[in-house]
Amino acid sequence: MRCPYCGASGSRVVDTRADPEQNEVRRRRSCRVCGERFSTVERVRGSLPLVVKSGPGGIALRREPFDRAKLRQSIAVACHKRPIPPAALDRLVGAIEARLESRNGEEVSSRAIGEMVIAGLRELDQVAYIRYAIVFLGLEDLAAVRDEIDRLLTGQVTRSAL
Ligand SMILES: [Zn+2]
Repeated sequence: MRCPYCGASGSRVVDTRADPEQNEVRRRRSCRVCGERFSTVERVRGSLPLVVKSGPGGIALRREPFDRAKLRQSIAVACHKRPIPPAALDRLVGAIEARLESRNGEEVSSRAIGEMVIAGLRELDQVAYIRYAIVFLGLEDLAAVRDEIDRLLTGQVTRSAL
């Protein structure tokens, strides 16, 4: 692990904290050369699936590795200025990641991931949930938004994503 300040590779662990819920361990390190401190995160990971992006008509356009940071960012945008603690966001991202890992490498559609987010946000915050649904589903008029929300509220989307 290289020091982000001086690039030296030797560091000493000064603190270790485990977060069982996220299945990860955070370590505070001190560089042996310049003495600056930095943190590292160790996370257990199974094999994460490729995410399939689909175009109109459900045709697969491209596949890319699952990107936890990108997913978290897209959720954070929907949660902007809502009273949602960052830890709750991390839990949602962690829960989705755990579900993806349990697929044993079977690829997953970006839409299915989006629907997992929508289902999770629905439990957390109604405004963030509707924002995410509108952006993610690309709805363009109010009637379509209303229909989609009705559909989400009856649980059809959530079930089909499982
Ligand atoms: Zn250093």
